[in-house]
Amino acid sequence: MEQHKGQAIGDKIAIGRIFYYKKNTAAVKQEQTADVPGELIRLERAVARTAEQLGQLYIKALGEVGEAEAEILKAQLLILEDPEYIREIRSRIEEQRMDAAYAVKLTGERLAEYFAGMEDEIISARAADIRDITEQLVTILQGGEKSDIRWREPVILMAEELSPSETVQLDKGKLLGFVTRYGSTGSHTAILARTMDIPALLGVEIQPSWDGRLAILDGAGGILTVDPDEEALADARKRQESEGRRRLLLEAVRGKETVTGDGRRVRLYANIGSVADADAALQNDAEGIGLFRSEFLYLKAKDYPTEQEQFQAYRAVAERMGDKKVIIRTLDIGADKQAEYFGLEKETNPALGYRAIRICLTRQDIFRTQLRAILRASAYGNIGIMFPMIISLKELRQAKEILQQVRGELTAQGIPFREVEVGVMIETPAAVMISEELAAETDFFSIGTNDLTQYALAIDRQNPRLEPFYDAHHPAVLRMIRMTVENGHKGGAWVGICGELGADLELTETFLEMGVDELSVSPSMVLPVRERIRNL
Ligand code: PEP
Ligand code: MG
Repeated sequence: MEQHKGQAIGDKIAIGRIFYYKKNTAAVKQEQTADVPGELIRLERAVARTAEQLGQLYIKALGEVGEAEAEILKAQLLILEDPEYIREIRSRIEEQRMDAAYAVKLTGERLAEYFAGMEDEIISARAADIRDITEQLVTILQGGEKSDIRWREPVILMAEELSPSETVQLDKGKLLGFVTRYGSTGSHTAILARTMDIPALLGVEIQPSWDGRLAILDGAGGILTVDPDEEALADARKRQESEGRRRLLLEAVRGKETVTGDGRRVRLYANIGSVADADAALQNDAEGIGLFRSEFLYLKAKDYPTEQEQFQAYRAVAERMGDKKVIIRTLDIGADKQAEYFGLEKETNPALGYRAIRICLTRQDIFRTQLRAILRASAYGNIGIMFPMIISLKELRQAKEILQQVRGELTAQGIPFREVEVGVMIETPAAVMISEELAAETDFFSIGTNDLTQYALAIDRQNPRLEPFYDAHHPAVLRMIRMTVENGHKGGAWVGICGELGADLELTETFLEMGVDELSVSPSMVLPVRERIRNL
C-alpha cells in the first residue's frame, strides 16, 4: 500500500481500478507521401499490430472482467477487419497520396460521425469503437503504444494532464474520479469535475506502473492510496456510506424555498456545460440555470457546431427546464479552452489574450450563428443571454447591436423567438469599475469570480505553483463584488454570482448581506447552499 498527496477537487471518495490514459500527443497533420507503396505497407503492419493487441486484450478481459465487457473488444476487432473501412483508408493513400496516419484519421472521423448520427442507439454507439480503433491505429503509425486497459468498467482515470476538451468528452458513467500530475483547482478541468460531481486529485506524482491497480481516491483528505489493504478499504467504504447519509439528510431541503429565517429570498441556480448536466441540475432541485457554458458544446465537436446543432442543444435545455430561467453564456473559447478547428495562435499570455467576446466581435459569423440558435431556442423556454469578458461599454453596445440585427433577420424570416434578458459577466476589474454605466444598459450582471480573482490578484488560475498565493476570500475581490452589486442595483440590473465562490458556504451570509440576488453553483452544491441559506 502506498499513499500520495494531491490537491483535492470535491470531497467524495472513489474506490476502483486505475486506468492510465496515455495520450497520443503527436498531432496528426496533413502530410502528403511520395511513397504510396511504403505507406500501404505501414498501414498493413499497423492493422496487424492493432489486431494482435486487441486479441491479447480480449483474452485478458475474458479472464478478468467477463464475457460481456470482452465482447466490446471483439466488436472493435470486427471494425478492423471490415473491408470497407480498410478500403477507404487505402484509397485515400493511393488516390490522394495522404500519409497513412492522416488517411486513418480522416476515415475514422467520417465513419464515427456517420454512426453517431444514427437514431438507433446500439448503432450510434459504434462511433466510440471506431474512434478507439482509429486512435490506436494512429498511435501505432506514429510509433507509440496505447494503454492496454480497454474494457470499460468504471475507473479512476490517471493522466499527466487533462485539458477541458478532453474532460468534457469523458464518459461520466465510466468515471469514478481522476488523478493528474498537472492542473490547478481553478482550471476548467477542475470545474468540470465539480459539475460532474466526481472527486479528483491534481498534482499527484503519478506512475505508469499503477495502471490497472486498485486505489482509493480520497477527495476529502486529498490522498490517493494505491494497493490499499483491507483496513483502508473498509474505512473508505464506511466513509462513502456516511457521505451517502449526509446527502440523504440534504433531501430535507428538496422542494423547499431558498429563503433565510428572516424571509430574504435568493434565486439558487446551477452551472452546466451540456444538455445532460441540465438533468443533473433538475435532479438536484436547481431553480434555474445561471450559467450554461456554451463553449463546451464547441469543445466536444470536431468542427464549428452548426446553428441547427446548437439550436437543438439550447432548446433541449430550455424545454427540460420549463418555466425556469436558462442563462446561456455566449462562446467563451480561448485561454485554456481550445478547440483545434478555431486555429487560434499560441499566445504568450493566453488568459490576457484573444478569447471570449473578443473572438465573437471579430469573427462575427461564429457569433451570429450562435445568437440565431439561442434566439430560436428562446421560443421553447425562458432563456437569457450573457456576454463573457466584457471590459467596456463599447463592447457591450456592439454585442447588443449584433443581437438586434439577428433579431431583425429572424423577424424578416418569420422565425419565432421571445424577448430574452441580456446580461454581462463581470469578470474583470475594468467591468467592476464601470459597472454603474454597464448596469444602465443591461438587465443583469453575473459575477464570474474565477476570472475576477485571477485578474484582480494577478494570479494565473491555470498555474498550480500559485495555489499558495491564491486567497479566495481576498478583501479586494470581496469589495469588488460588493461594488458590483451596489452599482448593478443603482442601474436597475439584478446581480448574481456564477463563479466557484458562489458555492463557498463560508461566504453565503456575506453575499446575502451584500444583496446578491442569485447564486449559480455546480448542480451537486445546490442543496448544500440551500440548507445553508435556510439556516441563516
Ligand atoms: C468565472 O470566470 O468565474 C466564470 C464563471 O467563467 P469561467 O469559469 O468559465 O471562466
Ligand atoms: Mg470566466
